[in-house]
Amino acid sequence: MIIIKKPKELQDFLESNRNEGKRIGFAPTMGALHAGHLSLVNENKKQNDVVVCSIFVNPTQFNDPEDFRKYPVTIEKDILLLEDAGCDVLFLPSVQDIYPSGTNDLNHYELGFLETVLEGKFRPGHFQGVCQIMHRLLEIVLPDNLYLGQKDYQQCMVIKRLIKLIGLDDKVKVTVCPTLREKDGLAMSSRNARLLPAERIKATTLFASLRYIKENLNPGTTKKIKDAGKQMLLQNGFRTDYIEIADANTLQLVENWNGKQKIVVLAAAFINNVRLIDNLQVNT
Ligand code: AMP
Repeated sequence: MIIIKKPKELQDFLESNRNEGKRIGFAPTMGALHAGHLSLVNENKKQNDVVVCSIFVNPTQFNDPEDFRKYPVTIEKDILLLEDAGCDVLFLPSVQDIYPSGTNDLNHYELGFLETVLEGKFRPGHFQGVCQIMHRLLEIVLPDNLYLGQKDYQQCMVIKRLIKLIGLDDKVKVTVCPTLREKDGLAMSSRNARLLPAERIKATTLFASLRYIKENLNPGTTKKIKDAGKQMLLQNGFRTDYIEIADANTLQLVENWNGKQKIVVLAAAFINNVRLIDNLQVNT
């Protein structure tokens, strides 16, 4: 695996590979890698000639400065994991390389409804930051295939929208990979490393509450079952941002389910000051 820090160097390297007819796959990350990230690299490897991964903790997508400051960094271990997984190129830029004119005057993206609900509602500015970094990375890497995790369900929708907005939808194909979980169901996440042992045990309730809703949801009003899921979280020491049922394609919240509409259950909740998110599709 080669490590490239400068955007121009990566562009030149990929350009010469593209000219040789090689297919380029890209999985962007913020590091502190776990098996969930590596599943994206594996998928990437199956479908491409050049497997590119990036590690960049993007400051513009953190609406909470404390969350940014405490974001785990394990770069040496990450390099070994990526090498083992068969990654060809690790892109490891600095903030200066990504935002040469600073972060104060970046693009604004028209995300519409997506930015007003769930993560968009509870993390103001977050998806603008996601679009700023993804726009820049996509322009640098110009991949044929982009690999994202379903764990960040709404983010996948935002990035697909961004790809349309910037006119790359004919060039970049998005593959959404399933959420990898620990044995007890907790979705793998870099933020799990910040949980203390007792918090880690309780954290499994996040998945349990989603599964409870999935397994017990009947056609009709969704309020009662959402309240039951929320109670499970509160009783286990979580503070919830939301636990919601939404249309799987639009993320419009579903108050009344007809039993056929494809839906997804999504939650975001804190254990102390660690914020976790997860989701489960119900009938897809
Ligand atoms: P992050 O480093 O958290 O920005 O994540 C980088 C990519 O890995 C995103 O596309 C995530 O959705 C994906 N990802 C994170 N956790 C998981 C997981 N448990 N299973 C599958 N993909 C994941």
